[in-house]
Order: sequence, then C-alpha cells, then structure tokens
Amino acid sequence: MTGRIRPPAMVREHSPDRWRRGTCWLWCGRDDLPVQWLGTVEHGPLRVPLTACRECTHLLTERVHATAPASTSPPENA
Ligand SMILES: [Zn+2]
Repeated sequence: MTGRIRPPAMVREHSPDRWRRGTCWLWCGRDDLPVQWLGTVEHGPLRVPLTACRECTHLLTERVHATAPASTSPPENA
C-alpha cells in the first residue's frame, strides 16, 4: 500500500491561531518551533498530522505555484 498526503486547500491562509509548537515534517525537520497543520498523512491504517514551519510552508507554497499550470489553479476566492 502506498502512502498519500492530503493537504487542505489552505496553505495560503496564515491566521495566527494556526501556529503551535511542534515538529516540522518538511525539509528542515526542526523540532520545538511554531508549525501549522497542513494535512493528514495516511499510510495503510496509520494516520498522522503533517505540520510544517513558516519557512517550509512558504517553500511549499512557492513550489505549488511554480509547478501547477495556471489553467489548473482553483479560483482565489473558492
Ligand atoms: Zn521546516
């Protein structure tokens, strides 16, 4: 069985109350710093929260915008 990541449609929304101290699951892997929940990682029967720091969330957002063709982007106010 393959793992999959289901990010919510909201990496662009940065409300202050989203941030909690925790571990960044993305590139830096740092611990005990402000992170926000990005989605749930499912691997077989396992489900764990995926959280990321501001820098890695920003990098992920940049990669999404650089990768997704404009024609497939959802409307900004969806
Ligand atoms: Zn990070």
